[in-house]
Amino acid sequence: MSLQGKVALITGGSRGIGAAVAQTLATAGAAVAVCARNGEAAAATASAIAAQGGQALGVAADVSRAEDAERLMKACLERFGRLDILVNNAGITRDGLVLRMKDGDWSDVLAVNLNGAFYCARAALRVILKQKQSGRIINIGSVVGSMGNAGQANYVTSKAGLIGLTKALAREVAARGVTVNLVAPGFIETDMTANLSDAVKETYRGQIPLGRFGTAADVAAAVAFLASDGAAYITGQVIHVNGGMWSS
Ligand code: NAP
Repeated sequence: MSLQGKVALITGGSRGIGAAVAQTLATAGAAVAVCARNGEAAAATASAIAAQGGQALGVAADVSRAEDAERLMKACLERFGRLDILVNNAGITRDGLVLRMKDGDWSDVLAVNLNGAFYCARAALRVILKQKQSGRIINIGSVVGSMGNAGQANYVTSKAGLIGLTKALAREVAARGVTVNLVAPGFIETDMTANLSDAVKETYRGQIPLGRFGTAADVAAAVAFLASDGAAYITGQVIHVNGGMWSS
């Protein structure tokens, strides 16, 4: 599964799933750019990859801002001269029941998880389509985008919206050799899930047939496959990586 000669951009690549994706794609030979709002943390991921002999760039960017998405693509092009793979991974949660949810908690989650993916996909496609070669867009959704989840209406809506974006965009760019897919993780051990109570974690674990939480590496492996030439005939799909906790 070589990605030699390819350039990948991973949003939210400073930690968790995004950092694992960046490491995995770099190990497969891709040059990688990662972004996060915390530029130092993004640079640290890039340094760790460079220390292992990879080519990497860390950029401070907030994907909920269209101008940051444009700047991110420029930085990637200036450094690596092209872009082949975009992984829309940046995401946040602001959980709460709908009756108590603040307007800002609704709009912030939509702004990062959904608008951010749209801004980055649009900016990336301007580059990828000009190259007239194959390209990949891989959105990181969530099992709850298909399943639903009480207390996460904002997050679930953003992830369900990402499925729509994936399917619509896949049809728009298929004729140009670009595939667009979504990887939907289940419960993955990262900072995002670290603060859940032990009781909540045990409830989730009990719903997972494989009997364990997923790792960022489990998700990264699926992303690496979709990024590879071997996945050239897969587009508009949702790939669940959830230990069997839900299936469509
Ligand atoms: P995480 O550990 O909290 O990492 C989130 C990453 O996104 C960080 O690098 C963060 O850096 C970045 N980020 C957040 N807001 C951003 C913004 N506005 N602009 C740019 N970067 C931003 O989360 P994770 O668990 O790895 O999750 C990664 C993705 O997987 C998310 O889309 C999440 O919804 C999805 N997912 C996770 C799970 C799970 O169980 N962990 C399950 C299903 C789906 P800064 O804070 O510095 O910006």
